[in-house]
Amino acid sequence: MAEYARVGFLFLNFRRITKMGMEQKEDVYNTFSIVQEQLADCARILNLSEDIYSILRSPMREIHISLPVKMDNGKTKVFHGFRVQYNNALGPTKGGIRFHPDETVDTVRALAAWMTWKCSLLNLPLGGGKGGVICNPKEMSEGELERLSRLYIEKIWKYIGPDEDIPAPDVYTNPQIMAWMMDEYSKIAQKNQFGVVTGKPLLLGGSPGRGDATARGGLYTLREAAKELGMDLGYATIAIQGYGNAGYYAAKLAKELFGSKIVAVSDSQGGIYNADGLDPEEIQEHKRKKSSVVGLSGTKRITSEELMEIDVDVLIPAALENVITEKNAHNIKAKVIIELANGPTTPDADDILYKKGIHVIPDFLANAGGVTVSYFEMVQNLTMYYWSEEDVHSRLSDKMSQAYHSVLSAAKQYRVNMRQAAYVVAVSRVVEAMKMRGWI
Ligand code: GLU
Repeated sequence: MAEYARVGFLFLNFRRITKMGMEQKEDVYNTFSIVQEQLADCARILNLSEDIYSILRSPMREIHISLPVKMDNGKTKVFHGFRVQYNNALGPTKGGIRFHPDETVDTVRALAAWMTWKCSLLNLPLGGGKGGVICNPKEMSEGELERLSRLYIEKIWKYIGPDEDIPAPDVYTNPQIMAWMMDEYSKIAQKNQFGVVTGKPLLLGGSPGRGDATARGGLYTLREAAKELGMDLGYATIAIQGYGNAGYYAAKLAKELFGSKIVAVSDSQGGIYNADGLDPEEIQEHKRKKSSVVGLSGTKRITSEELMEIDVDVLIPAALENVITEKNAHNIKAKVIIELANGPTTPDADDILYKKGIHVIPDFLANAGGVTVSYFEMVQNLTMYYWSEEDVHSRLSDKMSQAYHSVLSAAKQYRVNMRQAAYVVAVSRVVEAMKMRGWI
């Protein structure tokens, strides 16, 4: 049996770990095992040699750091952080940094691998990386967050840089955090280094159009899918799981760009539903005041799980990993799923959705708008010439639509689902680059 087949088989058995707690039993999916399984599947489709596969199946470099931060109460708290640089065959590694209490090195590895495929799929001259710190920003003061962010850079500065590895925002990190990180790196380098991180505030070398880029990019792929499926988005109903940056902008832009109706949204506290349609700005205002979408007047309360199974045309998971599993995939009624979150669907669920004929726009295609505009930001930083927002939108639209159609053609050519097709296109390019560089 070829090595990738064997490893794929092993992960098939081990990717779902059942954790028995004292009073609860929960299924925990290891996201990196899922990534390796997806890659093993791709290796089979492309008939990759074992040496190529063994380079691709693990990260090129990972950095583990401890971060002692002086807290406001005078005590020192030690946080743990990672930066994983997965593969740089196509260029410097690129990817966000997450601040999350449930962060694990395996999640960061998985996300770094997806960044590699994402940059390749979008034809960006970049490799993939990701960072994470185990912390809960919701319980930290601004000063504590600033000290943590600066310390993170102090610990990894040797391994990052505008032509080495370029961080960006991700879950619970934002332009202000990027500004502190850029400033810290610039202090160490003793010169302004705007190009070391992207997703910065506009005044400090940020790009117009970066704020809503992830959602906008996803909606451009939906526009292309609708043409393919003969769906009129003006009459489409949409449910969105997650109402952070990606979820909010997806709701707002789906209404603005296509006139679609948002009927349900949710966040970590639960969900809301109104068959006549919800107003994205009203929800945002309510969430700002009450820290949740739940309780908005004129809406019916639903659970996040119920939201996934609502009868809508388009379902948009826009929060965290592993929310579409073999348990709920059978009940999903949407015709199209746009994965704005990274890794929302498990491999078992993928098979079910494919058999049901649901058109899935996979994560590293659907949410590639963020890193694409980050790349535009890098280009603008290098040339010191800043584009208009319209220019960013039209370049993003071209990139997303090219990527969508390359995946769709591969799906037809190889007779595989859209995720497998996205892997085929992305991994082939990385392999080609590794061969040309003489790595294999
Ligand atoms: N964190 C985003 C992603 O997962 C953006 C990464 C970037 O801009 O480098 O794609």
